[in-house]
Amino acid sequence: MSLPPSITALASRTAEFGALLEQWANVNSGSGHAAGLARMLAALREEFIRAFPAATCETLAADAAGFNPPGAQALRLRLRPAAPTQIFLCGHYDTVYEADDAFQICRWADPHTLHGPGVTDMKGGLVTLLAALEAFEQTAHAANLGWEVLLTPDEETGSHGTRQLLEDAARRCHFGLVFEPARPNGDIIHSRKGTGGVVATCHGRAAHAAKTPNDGRNAILGLAEFLLAAAKIPAELPGVLVNVGNIRGGSAATNVVPHRASAEIDIRITRAPDLPALWGRLHAIAFDVHETTGMKIELTGGLNRPPKECLPAEEVLFPEWQRAARDVGVAPFTWVHGGGASDGNFLTAAGLPNLDGLGPIGDQLHSDREHCRVDTLAPRAQIAALVLHRLASGEITLPQK
Ligand SMILES: [Zn+2]
Repeated sequence: MSLPPSITALASRTAEFGALLEQWANVNSGSGHAAGLARMLAALREEFIRAFPAATCETLAADAAGFNPPGAQALRLRLRPAAPTQIFLCGHYDTVYEADDAFQICRWADPHTLHGPGVTDMKGGLVTLLAALEAFEQTAHAANLGWEVLLTPDEETGSHGTRQLLEDAARRCHFGLVFEPARPNGDIIHSRKGTGGVVATCHGRAAHAAKTPNDGRNAILGLAEFLLAAAKIPAELPGVLVNVGNIRGGSAATNVVPHRASAEIDIRITRAPDLPALWGRLHAIAFDVHETTGMKIELTGGLNRPPKECLPAEEVLFPEWQRAARDVGVAPFTWVHGGGASDGNFLTAAGLPNLDGLGPIGDQLHSDREHCRVDTLAPRAQIAALVLHRLASGEITLPQK
C-alpha cells in the first residue's frame, strides 16, 4: 500500500530527529529549575512556530505555589479549531533531573542510542509529536482535522499548575494522544494506576521513659502497628499498591516516650472503586490500633492522579494504531497496564479518551542510565501521522465521546 509522501519521508529524517533530541535533552529542565524551564520553553516555541506558522501559539501561566517554580509556563498551539474532528496531543518538557544533578549532558552509546537526561521521558516524545504533526500537515485531507498541542512544565511533580489546562483541552477535543515513552519492547499503554499519598500520624502521650513509663503512649509503636497492617492491604485488595515511603517520630531525647510519629505512604489504585475500598481498610486499621493502644491515627491526603481506565473509543482506535504500525513496517506490539501515572490519567478523568505511550522506545527512565532508541523516533511519528491522516480522510471514524 502507498503512504502519503510526507509520512514516507519521515523515515529518512532520523539523523535530524536525533540531533534535535540531543539539543533539547542538553537543556536542563528539571521541574524545579525556573531558568532551565524557560530556556526549554523558548527552544520548543521556536521549533513549533517554525513548523506551524499558521497555528495560534500561546504561553500560559502554570502557577502552583509550593509545587512549581515562579514563572513556569505551558506552551499551547491550536490549528483549525473549527474543524469537525479535534485531536489533542500532549507532552511534558520537565524532567526529574534538577540543575544540580550530575546527569546533564547526552552522549551517543551507539549510532542508534542516545543516553541522556529526559531523552525518553519525554523529550523524545516531543520530537515524535512534532515530526508526526509536521508530516500530517502535508497530507491531502489535513483541513478536516483540527488539533491542539499542550507542552507542560510540571508533569513529573504532579501537574499541579497544568491540570486545568489539560481538562480544558479535554472538553474541546474528541481524542487525545499522549507521547510518553513506549515500553522497552515497543508496547504502548492500555491503562495506568491512579496515584496519591496518605500521611498517617499517630498521636500518643509523652512521659518520662523510666520514672512514669506507664503514663506514656509510644506513638512510634502505635504507628508501627498501623503500618505493618496497612502494608498487607495489597494482598486483600487486588489492584491496590501501598508503599510506606518514610517515617518520622521521636526526638534526640531517647528517655522520652514519643508523643507523635508520622509516615508518608504512596498509594496506587487500578479502578475508581478501589479508592473507597482502600480508605475503608485504612480507617478500619486505624480504628483497631485505637482500640488496642488508645492512640489515635489521623489520616490525611488522597489521590493526586485518578486511574486511567480504558475507554470504549480507545478500544476502537488501538487496533487502528496497530494497523498503522504494520503499514509503516513497525514490529507488532500490544498495549499493557502501567503502574506509573501520566497526564493521560487526567484526560481520562475529564472524559477524553486517549492513547498513551506513543513516544519512542527507551529505558531506565528517572535514572542516570536513561537512554532512547533514536531509530524509533521516525517510525513512531509515522504511526501517529498515518492515524491522523486516516482520521482526517474519514477512513477511521471515532465513536461519539
Ligand atoms: Zn514522562
